[in-house]
Amino acid sequence: MYDFIIVGAGSAGCVLANRLSSNPNIKVCLVEAGPKDSSLMVHVPLGIIGMMHSKKMNWRYYTEQEPNLNGRRLFWPRGKTLGGSSASNAMCYIRGHACDYDKWAALGNEGWGYQDVQPYFKKSECQERGGNAYHGDSGPLSVSDLRIKNPLSEAFIKAAKQAGHKLTQDFNADEQEGVGYYQVTQKNGQRCSTAVGYLRPAEQRENLTVITDALTTKVTFDGTKATGIEYLKGGSTHTLQCSGEVLLSGGAINSPQLLLLSGVGNKDQLNQHGIPVVCDLPGVGENMQDHLDVLAVTRERTFYSVGFSPVALLRSMKGIVDYLLFRKGNFTSNIAEAGGFVKSSPELAVPDIQFHFSPCFLDNHGLNLWQTVRHGYSLHACNLRPKSRGRLTLRDSNPATPPRINANYLGNEEDIEVMVKGIKLSREILKQPAFDCYRGAEVYPGKDVQSDEALKAFIRRKAESIYHPVGTCKMGIDDMAVVDPQLKVRGITGVRVVDASIMPTLIGGNTNAPTIMIAEKASDMILDEQLKKSEKSQELEVEVL
Ligand SMILES: Cc1cc2nc3c(=O)[nH]c(=O)nc-3n(C[C@H](O)[C@H](O)[C@H](O)COP(=O)(O)OP(=O)(O)OC[C@H]3O[C@@H](n4cnc5c(N)ncnc54)[C@H](O)[C@@H]3O)c2cc1C
Repeated sequence: MYDFIIVGAGSAGCVLANRLSSNPNIKVCLVEAGPKDSSLMVHVPLGIIGMMHSKKMNWRYYTEQEPNLNGRRLFWPRGKTLGGSSASNAMCYIRGHACDYDKWAALGNEGWGYQDVQPYFKKSECQERGGNAYHGDSGPLSVSDLRIKNPLSEAFIKAAKQAGHKLTQDFNADEQEGVGYYQVTQKNGQRCSTAVGYLRPAEQRENLTVITDALTTKVTFDGTKATGIEYLKGGSTHTLQCSGEVLLSGGAINSPQLLLLSGVGNKDQLNQHGIPVVCDLPGVGENMQDHLDVLAVTRERTFYSVGFSPVALLRSMKGIVDYLLFRKGNFTSNIAEAGGFVKSSPELAVPDIQFHFSPCFLDNHGLNLWQTVRHGYSLHACNLRPKSRGRLTLRDSNPATPPRINANYLGNEEDIEVMVKGIKLSREILKQPAFDCYRGAEVYPGKDVQSDEALKAFIRRKAESIYHPVGTCKMGIDDMAVVDPQLKVRGITGVRVVDASIMPTLIGGNTNAPTIMIAEKASDMILDEQLKKSEKSQELEVEVL
């Protein structure tokens, strides 16, 4: 019997496990579907290439055929190991724009405005440059400057300046707009996932149990009160009981899937799959949002880019030595070394486009390894606040079956207009003199792709996810909200959702730090309630005496 069962040891789950078990009177169990994070691919930053391919540590989801992307099925990698997607992501440390959180508050989510959430970003952070009004310097999540600066990334920053963009040293202070190097969630040149930052220091606590290779198949209920979970491990079904709450931290795909499998969701969908209805909650799986990304790729003449050519492999030898001896060099690269936030039109109040610059020939997420034999550099542009909304539904009632993901990218016509502006801005930067000594032929969009119509056709043919799905268990106060501002699932008791799925709207930036912030805030809310409960029971005891 546990006080809290946490499903999913990802960006959010590891934070909860650490913070809740810091109270020795609270018994916590953390259940993770994937294996332990013992692979080097997790910890060596350049191992991100291998994590994309991993079948063991990556859920490797695909969307359904996307109607506005020529019927293509898009690849959705998700981490499946201790640390979750924080163990396989590109490590860019970005919080989003203050206005994103103020919007959450304006939607009725009291306590989630920027001033409310900023202390939790600081609490989580250990900023290598030191603390200040915006940054924390004693949290579990290490945030560092990159230990490698590829000459191509340097050229990108110079070129952005030549194109008229302002430069910044810090995307997470008072002004997000600008171009520069990303800071990364790394410590001493190694990845700092939430498993490294939060779980490892707590693992030895007697009141924390961690179970890996265990797929949670449903939340169990007595009426509408959660009593625990069932999970599959080693081919057999196990049960866990809890007296407090089940905390779902399975991420934006698996948390809504698990709610549906447990009988919480749209009743028609549940009936269709023969799942007994615990609570008819129509918002589960709806409101899906993601950053769609379009790449401009140029061939490179100087062989500085990361790749698998003979020249690059020779350079890798040096990289291995640098890494082993000094934790420096190519192997500390996060691939998306530089980037920025820009406005597609000057009259906009906040940036609506994010760039990620990669000093490598990227195509199809790097899954076609033969392509990385070619040297090149890639500039991603994504629309930060898409208006399209997708949905997740069950394919069947088997917990091991991947759910249907209908992302509905470009469902709203305005979204493609922003992306066209994004790719034009990318091209403007790539043609600047700073790239003259590196530039080969433009591969994508390609010299024949010039008109807006041709660019739109290119986007439909080539755009891909940049891995930030959110919103499928949205927090709010309207009928389609799945959780309330305390992250409690509406209509039932004893279940909260704490992960990226609760974001009511996608933030303008990468989603790891915001998810960690959500879990920090949730931990505080839960511990506070626990404290109030124990004070109340002490008062009652005194009264009885
Ligand atoms: C390839 C990639 C690159 C990215 N790059 C960046 C970046 O550079 N910067 C950034 O800020 N963000 C990045 N992101 C996004 C960011 O990492 C995610 O938004 C964030 O990690 C989501 O956290 P989460 O806790 O919601 O889910 P996750 O971290 O995905 O955690 C969910 C966990 O739950 C487990 N789980 C799921 N279902 C079950 C079940 N039924 N039973 C038991 N366990 C279960 C999963 O295995 C996983 O460990 C990237 C993501 C990816 C995939």
